[in-house]
Amino acid sequence: MFNSLSEKLESAFKNLKGEARINDLNIANTVKDIRRALVDADVNYKIAKEFTDRVKDKATGQKVLNAISPGQLMVKIVQDELTELMGGTEADFNITGNPAVILIAGLQGSGKTTFTGKLANYLKTKKGKSPLVVAADIYRPAAIDQLTILAEQIGVDIYAERESNDAVAIARNAIKEAKSKNKNVVIIDTAGRLAVDEVMMTEVANIKAAVNPTEILFVVDSMTGQDAVNTAKTFNDRLDFNGVVLTKLDGDTRGGAALSIKYTVNKPIKFMSSGEKMDTLDVFYPDRMAQRILGMGDITSLVEKAQAQYDEEQAKKLEKKIRKNQFDFQDFLDQLQQIKKMGNLKDLMGMIPGVGKAMKDIDVDDNSFKGIEAMIHSMTPAERGNPDLIDQQRKLRIAKGSGKDINEINAFMKQFEQMKKMMGMMNKMPMGMGGRMMPG
Ligand code: GDP
Repeated sequence: MFNSLSEKLESAFKNLKGEARINDLNIANTVKDIRRALVDADVNYKIAKEFTDRVKDKATGQKVLNAISPGQLMVKIVQDELTELMGGTEADFNITGNPAVILIAGLQGSGKTTFTGKLANYLKTKKGKSPLVVAADIYRPAAIDQLTILAEQIGVDIYAERESNDAVAIARNAIKEAKSKNKNVVIIDTAGRLAVDEVMMTEVANIKAAVNPTEILFVVDSMTGQDAVNTAKTFNDRLDFNGVVLTKLDGDTRGGAALSIKYTVNKPIKFMSSGEKMDTLDVFYPDRMAQRILGMGDITSLVEKAQAQYDEEQAKKLEKKIRKNQFDFQDFLDQLQQIKKMGNLKDLMGMIPGVGKAMKDIDVDDNSFKGIEAMIHSMTPAERGNPDLIDQQRKLRIAKGSGKDINEINAFMKQFEQMKKMMGMMNKMPMGMGGRMMPG
């Protein structure tokens, strides 16, 4: 995420490397490079200029304490300013009301339907809500099909009227349906167009007037940079929406939309979405995003994701097995499944400070685990529970079953043994230094 911007900012801070003090000249050079980095990331020039003027003001006349270098001081100033630019603190998301009504607006292809599914999934699994999703796109029957598939996938009800040509009536009827079925959140997916268009705007505005939404969210494809920001302005003038959703942050986005949108429409970014899977939706935290942009990683989010998957009972059992040196292939497989549930692998690794940058050219996809899984799946339960059982004969069978060659099976088994040995060593360490696999 935002790799190029991160790199350019890092290189801007190099102006201060080896400098004992902050002075007008080294500030000017750094600030100029920061501005260029922002403009290259498709941040509007005016926003970039004001941003760097503030950074310059803050840096000028700062006494550098002994403990920190001018470079560190500058990073801190930029970190604070980036956080502010993206909204400062996380925004509220209002789901009170019975039902709460959430209206989703945006251009076609921005990711509205996908987000509608993800939001329903989020509200169901994380907030204990009972959502109803509504297909109010009367122009594209495929949009109804798409939402139907997503709803089925996440186990949420959908409301649609295939023969209707009245989106306002659909929205109204959906709310009636929600009340009769005890659904406490209604999420209305509206029709989009490829570009801003008066008919579409009027339709969304009419739905808004008819259903009085609790929240209107504007969905933005973050790959589209400043265009997205301009579109946001047009929609906001008409709809006065409550917040923004940034989608496709898993792609090669430059950062312009994330950095400029709050400034331009003065509405917070509420969610960020990064992938096509239904569980890749996150609340947007400006401070954490600023840290990620500056290559500091986002350990807070990583720990939260781990905690969400953390099962105390299971962890205790696992700890016991590790202590007795009984960790087996089935345990390993279970651990892999847990990690996968946390989300997209490259994204997770990018949250570890320094790792995001190191991995930028490495293609880690979620299939990285597939080979290992195939090998373990080709073992019998007895073999998984007792790796010592696996002799040459069995290895050949496992190789065949998993489509690997025997060398790959041998290498994997060797790695597994080494891992077990490491775990054994951790067990022997004094309390608190080893033995625990997960945050607890
Ligand atoms: P809509 O026309 O606004 O409803 O957009 P869709 O939800 O149909 O999304 C358009 C395309 O973008 C689809 O192919 C989606 O699978 C894809 N998409 C949506 N959100 C994301 C995302 O966060 N990441 C990625 N990589 N693709 C996405």
